[in-house]
Amino acid sequence: MQKYFHTWYVFCPRCKTSLEYDDHSTRCSSCGFVAYLNASPGVGAIIEKDHAILLVKRKFDPHKNTWDIPGGFLNSDESFESALHRELFEELGVEINIVRYLGSEADEYNGRPIINTIFLCTIVSGTPVPTDDIAEIQWFDRENMPYNDIAFAYVKKIVQSYINTS
Ligand SMILES: [Zn+2]
Repeated sequence: MQKYFHTWYVFCPRCKTSLEYDDHSTRCSSCGFVAYLNASPGVGAIIEKDHAILLVKRKFDPHKNTWDIPGGFLNSDESFESALHRELFEELGVEINIVRYLGSEADEYNGRPIINTIFLCTIVSGTPVPTDDIAEIQWFDRENMPYNDIAFAYVKKIVQSYINTS
């Protein structure tokens, strides 16, 4: 993880002294400020209906115009579950039920480390329509997933894993 951070923060945000680094944190020897530079938590949904999985086309970079699973980053006061409910409503206008936890994958997003957790979900209310940062939605048959056009390596991995084990 070290590679991400040594170039990010040069000076202490509190007192402007040059920072010192170790493998897990960035420290100020002057005022004691410590930044623990963990991965940013995200959450995503695999939604299956009639042997098809819902993917969303990204409207913006990174990976603009490639397929992704719906989801996003947690706000600072959210659980994974509440963030997933919020993101799916914002992006698709649907209310979901979380069926079960599928797993988590580390990756990077705009050069910063992320940890994404993925849940199997069903839609309980609403018909998905693309809004917010989604350009388009499509249900892909299990046997015809667009693996060569999926935004993130971890998304491809988790979708393949889900299909191979369910
Ligand atoms: Zn300081």
